[in-house]
Amino acid sequence: MNRIPMVAGNWKMYKNISEARHLVSEMIPGLQMVENVEKVICPPFTALLAVRALLEGSDIGLGAQDMYWESAGAFTGEISPLMLSELCHYVIIGHSERRSYFGETNQTVNKKLHAALSHGLFPIVCVGETLEENQAHKTHQVITSQLHEGFQALVLDRVEDNGQVPFAIAYEPVWAIGTGQAASPEGANTVVKEIVRPALTDMFGEKLASMTRVLYGGSVKANNAVDFFVQSDIDGALVGGACLKVEEFIPIVQAAA
Ligand code: PEP
Repeated sequence: MNRIPMVAGNWKMYKNISEARHLVSEMIPGLQMVENVEKVICPPFTALLAVRALLEGSDIGLGAQDMYWESAGAFTGEISPLMLSELCHYVIIGHSERRSYFGETNQTVNKKLHAALSHGLFPIVCVGETLEENQAHKTHQVITSQLHEGFQALVLDRVEDNGQVPFAIAYEPVWAIGTGQAASPEGANTVVKEIVRPALTDMFGEKLASMTRVLYGGSVKANNAVDFFVQSDIDGALVGGACLKVEEFIPIVQAAA
C-alpha cells in the first residue's frame, strides 16, 4: 500500500488576515507545481476563511491547529468540529504546545479525535516525548500510552477518497520543536518503526498500521528535510517555523515528492 507523502505547515499563532493572504499567495504557485504530495497549511482560526478563498481550485489542503470536541454549546472561546468542517478538512490534535500550555491530555486528545473523525475531518495527531522523558529512557512508554489512550475505542471504518487512512500521526519529540535541534533522521525512524507502528498494529492490525502515514516534526528545514523523507517509515513532515518562509517550505514539500 502506497502511503502518499504529506507535508503540513503549522503556522502557530502567527499572521493576521492580510499577512496570511500575502503568504499564501506567495506560496500557491510553488506548492501547486509539486505533485504526489498531500500539502496542507494550518493558519490560525482567524485566517481560515481568507486562506480558504485563496486556495479554492488548488490541490492545497487547509487545516486548523486545534478544535473542541463538542459540536455546539456553552463553551466560550472554543471552536467546534462542526464549525471547522465548513472551513477546512484537516485539524492538528494534541500538539505538544497544547499539551504543555493548555492542559491537554491523552483523554482530551481521544475526545477530539473521535469528534474530528465523526465530522469528516482529517486529524493529524501529535505524539512525542519531552527531553526529560527521553533522557530517562521513557520514550517507548510515553509514546505507546499517548497512542493507546489517544486512540482508545476508535474503530476505523472508512478510508479517504484517495484510499489513505483518514488520520495521520506526527511524531514530534518535544525537545526538537522550535529549537533548531532536529532529531537524527535514523533515530526518528527507529521511534516510528519500533514504537509508533507497533502501537498502531496492536490497535488496528498490521495492514492498517502499515497504511497509516506517520510524519516527523521538530526543526525540519529545507536543508534537512530529505534526510527524514528517505527513511523507511517517515511519510512526511509537520513543519512549524520553516512553513512561514516560502523559500523554506516549498523546498521541503519538493523534498517530500
Ligand atoms: C511544530 O510546531 O509542530 C513544529 C514541528 O515546529 P518547528 O518545525 O518549528 O520545530
